[in-house]
Amino acid sequence: MAVNTEAYNTISKELAEKHVTLVAVSKTKPAEDIEAMYNLGQRDFGENYVQELVDKQAQLPKDIRWHFIGHLQSNKVKMIAPFVHLIHGVDSLKLLQEINKQAAKAGRIINCLLQVHIAQEETKFGFDEETLMATNVNELHQLANVRVIGLMGMASFTEDKEKVRGEFRLLKSLYDKFSAGQPDGQKLSVLSMGMSGDYAIAVSEGSTMVRIGSLLFGAREYVK
Ligand SMILES: *Cc1c(COP(=O)(O)O)cnc(C)c1O
Repeated sequence: MAVNTEAYNTISKELAEKHVTLVAVSKTKPAEDIEAMYNLGQRDFGENYVQELVDKQAQLPKDIRWHFIGHLQSNKVKMIAPFVHLIHGVDSLKLLQEINKQAAKAGRIINCLLQVHIAQEETKFGFDEETLMATNVNELHQLANVRVIGLMGMASFTEDKEKVRGEFRLLKSLYDKFSAGQPDGQKLSVLSMGMSGDYAIAVSEGSTMVRIGSLLFGAREYVK
């Protein structure tokens, strides 16, 4: 069994005390590992690849809340629309419209986070600050089958903790600004930031949801 029970117990307790939601990132890990952590009480799991998520969802307990945290292609939205709990990586309005369409077909309202590009690295997807702030929130609220409940971001992959802290601080400030621009009663509630290497910094900068994989499940053997 590859689950690090001790780390899970320590981290989940620490986060619960701070009212931060723990999403256990189980990508590339077998269903047995997820089941083992489920038996420790974990219910929120994150996956990056659509087919892998669909396969695991079919095999595992139905009260698991599945988070899609990867880069989502429009043509695959329909595969996860019937059950996904939260889509973290919405990086365009076009994708949001497709999620809305597939959610309507599935008779659901799907919660989504807009992904914001905060790292200086080229490879990260997401809205930049300007595009996010120029987004017409009324347009978002017209999509009846999606609910944008927050923002998600990834810091640079670096040992430079002050750089990481600065990027999380920027995302928190964008979150506060974007939240303030929402219609009454529709303030954002989820700020998804922090992974194994930087979650403590993220939490101290105001994260409400962290996505932790390798600290809980051990290092991944391959990266897709
Ligand atoms: C893989 C992944 C994580 C978890 O990464 P760890 O470093 O293993 O904690 C978190 N968020 C996203 C978007 C990921 O792709």
